[in-house]
Amino acid sequence: MVSRVIPVDPFDLVIFGGTGDLARRKILPALYRRYCAGQIPEGARIIGSARTEHDSEDYRAIAAGAIREFSAPRPCDEGRLSDFLKRLEYVTIDARGKNGWTDLAGHLSQDRVRAFYFSVGPSLFGDLAERIHKYGMATAQSRIVVEKPFGHDLETARDLNRTLASHFDEGQIYRIDHYLGKETVQNLMAVRFGNMLFEPLWNSQYVDHIQITVAETVGVGGRGEYYEKSGAMRDMMQNHLMQLLCLIAMEPPAKFDPDAVRDEKLKVIRALDDVLPHHIVRGQYDAAEGHEDAHPSYREAVGNPRSRTESYIALKTHISNWRWAGTPFYLRTGKRLKARSSVINVLFKETPHSIFGEEAGRHANFLSIRLQPNEGITLQVTIKEPGPGGMRLVDVPLDMTFSEALGPEGGDPPDAYERLIMDVIRGNQTLFMRGDEVEAAWAWTDPIIAGWEARGEVPKPYDSGSAGPGDGEMLMHRDDREWRGITP
Ligand code: NAP
Repeated sequence: MVSRVIPVDPFDLVIFGGTGDLARRKILPALYRRYCAGQIPEGARIIGSARTEHDSEDYRAIAAGAIREFSAPRPCDEGRLSDFLKRLEYVTIDARGKNGWTDLAGHLSQDRVRAFYFSVGPSLFGDLAERIHKYGMATAQSRIVVEKPFGHDLETARDLNRTLASHFDEGQIYRIDHYLGKETVQNLMAVRFGNMLFEPLWNSQYVDHIQITVAETVGVGGRGEYYEKSGAMRDMMQNHLMQLLCLIAMEPPAKFDPDAVRDEKLKVIRALDDVLPHHIVRGQYDAAEGHEDAHPSYREAVGNPRSRTESYIALKTHISNWRWAGTPFYLRTGKRLKARSSVINVLFKETPHSIFGEEAGRHANFLSIRLQPNEGITLQVTIKEPGPGGMRLVDVPLDMTFSEALGPEGGDPPDAYERLIMDVIRGNQTLFMRGDEVEAAWAWTDPIIAGWEARGEVPKPYDSGSAGPGDGEMLMHRDDREWRGITP
């Protein structure tokens, strides 16, 4: 099956922080791949910008190196790369300074979409927004893209929203959560709202509980300074896991339209219960020694032997509405866990009565939505174990892996950044967080953090390469449930 590429008109995209880690690892390779897919039209301009003095030739060399390095596993075609690079330019600008802005304005065309990607720290967002206006670059067709973290708490998120709102309309602000750009996340909506099969069962009457796991094998790496002030709750739970929770739990929007979808997500966040202290488990990874993957403990990595910041969090929450009353949602995320795996599991209740007797055992269906790696959806169903010897039951997966059903295109969906950047150009905000959603998520998060700070809680240590602290397992066991394994 050949994927349909929807053409866009020529556009101007300015990447502030165009030489940084995010631009090199994600944004530039994503643009190159969209170019290869035929979606970056003749005449489109991509303008990198940062403080360090470069000319456009230098920038093309930086971009070429990044694209070669980070295009894997897909190979980079040198001919296409050299053609793509012709679209790149560079302007030296300090976001807080005066120089370079008029030069940048001179690079932009009046009557086309212009997107300003703020791939710099949030402390510069206000300076950038203000200067874009001051130098006459904000047109009706302009939009800005901002990266996480969006605030540190409710107050800072409100400040940031106010700052951006003083220069741009909400309809021009694209707050990225790259989890929303994943193919499976949209497929989750297609599965829920495009089939009669699931939606009637999608409630507390048939769903026993829902688990969301975002497990990483990496540690804090070079982000120690930032992470130490953030922790897993702010870095992952408040945004990525919250967004996944919203999509799995929201009511069907009246139409697949940005505000209709975001209104429904907002209602979920506002219906979330406060989380009780004994429904929260925080952990910190220990050092791993004596093998080739040896690495320091969390505390060593951030250089703070008394750190109380969590590199792991698991919690149980409820959504107080008709659909989900009584259904627990278990969420966990952590670093240095046993595998890299992001998955949502919807565990259905057992049948009300088994006609097969005791030896058939207990069986329940579950729907597993894998976001990474191996994006795909599996429905676990119960069938008879083949062969003679009585009625023994066995659980088998009905695998909806896209590559099998849809051919190579289905199995190799665009990277989240590819989709999200093209959505910015097309002006589609469905997969971007609205300001009120972000604030509502912080309003839920802040008291949880304030609670454990007031109690002086210290995170539990856990072995690197494990499933997290034992208390995380206990959170489930106390309810006579267990986490699905963390598998690659
Ligand atoms: P980075 O590697 O430190 O890059 C920062 C970029 O901003 C560089 O190009 C830097 O170049 C430029 N810059 C810094 N100060 C500037 C100033 N005053 N005026 C103009 N340009 C300036 O950071 P990053 O990892 O790419 O992260 C960028 C943003 O994305 C941050 O908000 C981060 O939280 C977010 N983010 C990053 C990732 C990731 O994987 N890296 C993931 C999610 C979100 P010069 O020093 O030459 O100016």
